Amino acid sequence: MKQLESTSLVLLHHHLKALRLPTITAECEKLARQAAADNADHLTYLLQLTELELLERERKAAERRLKAAHLPTHKTLEGFDFGARPSVNKLLLCELARCEYIERRENVLFVGNPGTGKTHLATALAMAACGRGYRVRFFRLTELATLLMEARDERSLLGLKARLAKLDLLVLDELGYVPASKIGAELLFDVISSAYERCSLIVTTNLPFASWTEVFDSERLTGATLDRLTHRCQIIETKGESYRLRDAKAKMRKEGTAEGGGSSDRDRPRRNALEGGETSS
Ligand code: ADP
Ligand code: MG
Repeated sequence: MKQLESTSLVLLHHHLKALRLPTITAECEKLARQAAADNADHLTYLLQLTELELLERERKAAERRLKAAHLPTHKTLEGFDFGARPSVNKLLLCELARCEYIERRENVLFVGNPGTGKTHLATALAMAACGRGYRVRFFRLTELATLLMEARDERSLLGLKARLAKLDLLVLDELGYVPASKIGAELLFDVISSAYERCSLIVTTNLPFASWTEVFDSERLTGATLDRLTHRCQIIETKGESYRLRDAKAKMRKEGTAEGGGSSDRDRPRRNALEGGETSS
């Protein structure tokens, strides 16, 4: 009897492996003992097993989507201090985290000074989209421009564009830090116009619209890009002082009090830099 059981078990594991059901393979014996102890019927046992397999598959798929999105860090809306950024409407961000804008192929634009939480919020929305089953890819704009130009030189541009075309949400972070080259700007524009009404875009920028010509180096391209981006778009302004700067100042005030108002030589250059204002993110 014992011999038969172990032979059946080997066969069962073999079949489950062939059917690609790893969680059921791992859990079936433990759950069978539990079901026997609980007097559960066969169908309840089967239901529990299939539920476990499905949950694990969903978890792994979400993990894969998150990895494929190449997010720079993991940020959430829960980790965002809305009290410190009153210009950002918490209710609107919570609504965006439900991803209906992706179904409507709408865009989100975060505009504000460095350190005001644009990348944080864009990443949090990207993570929310991954969690809901959307295909997401995050790029710093300069990174995407470089990738596009390399692909063009290597004649693999079509492949890259085909991969981008499969996305539900494309995040372009930091528009405005470095002006794109003429070719880079045209390639970026091409990506943005291909995405138009086919997938959603989240763009973050520290530049007011009037200065976007500095990036695209052409009135025509800037106008056409803005036209596509801002049509059906939520524009969210992160007004105010840099969060990092605020944090650093608060820390210094605390340290200053603790040290009796003095500051060490080590702190001095940093303090001077902060007093001079933050110029980069
Ligand atoms: P930006 O992209 O606008 O330059 P970031 O999103 O990179 O700014 O924010 C800089 C740092 O400050 C990040 O670590 C971010 O998580 C944090 N931060 C910014 N604003 C907030 C906020 N309101 N609540 C919590 N953390 C914040
Ligand atoms: Mg940023």
